[in-house]
Amino acid sequence: MIPTVLMEVEKLVIPLAVQRFVLLEAGPAGFYTAQHLIKARPDVTVDIYERLPVPFGLVRFGVAPDHPEVKNVINTFTQTARHERCSFYGNVNVGKDLSVTELQEAYHAVVLSYGAEGNRRMGVPGEDLSGVYSAKDFVGWYNGLPSCREVRIQPLAFP
Ligand SMILES: Cc1cc2nc3c(=O)[nH]c(=O)nc-3n(C[C@H](O)[C@H](O)[C@H](O)COP(=O)(O)OP(=O)(O)OC[C@H]3O[C@@H](n4cnc5c(N)ncnc54)[C@H](O)[C@@H]3O)c2cc1C
Repeated sequence: MIPTVLMEVEKLVIPLAVQRFVLLEAGPAGFYTAQHLIKARPDVTVDIYERLPVPFGLVRFGVAPDHPEVKNVINTFTQTARHERCSFYGNVNVGKDLSVTELQEAYHAVVLSYGAEGNRRMGVPGEDLSGVYSAKDFVGWYNGLPSCREVRIQPLAFP
């Protein structure tokens, strides 16, 4: 997992006064950013908005359950979420429930860390066969992601 957004955050110019950051959204990039901001500056508070009811993005809904050494990072993220200068707001779909403009008006800085949406098609023969699934849908299904509850995993149908 590469929290590339951190590189951008280090370049932010932070004026003096209590700073209110908002982070969208609650995947690893968002949590690593929150963790480092809170550690680096005692005058920073961070609010995290996430469209799902629960945090941790693809660490919860992507990484396989038999990779506990990767999923363990959730313990560190939980400590950050419980920090007195960090708040988590689930069930908030940015762009629908709140606009980025509204957030810019309410906070000193806004960091967008919304991950990757959708699936990339490979353009290879057989891609549309029954029994072929995107990795994102498949791991979403076995990790219990609500939007993947309709996925019905079938055996591959060879032509
Ligand atoms: C199938 C699959 C398997 C993987 N397996 C591994 C693995 O085993 N080990 C590993 O190290 N990495 C793995 N990865 C990669 C890893 O999951 C990603 O690199 C990492 O999760 C990216 O973090 P992120 O914070 O950028 O995005 P995400 O984890 O996707 O987090 C983005 C968050 O933003 C939220 N969001 C999106 N839009 C909005 C909106 N409009 N309003 C509010 N919230 C919103 C999403 O709900 C999500 O919680 C896997 C990825 C995939 C797709």
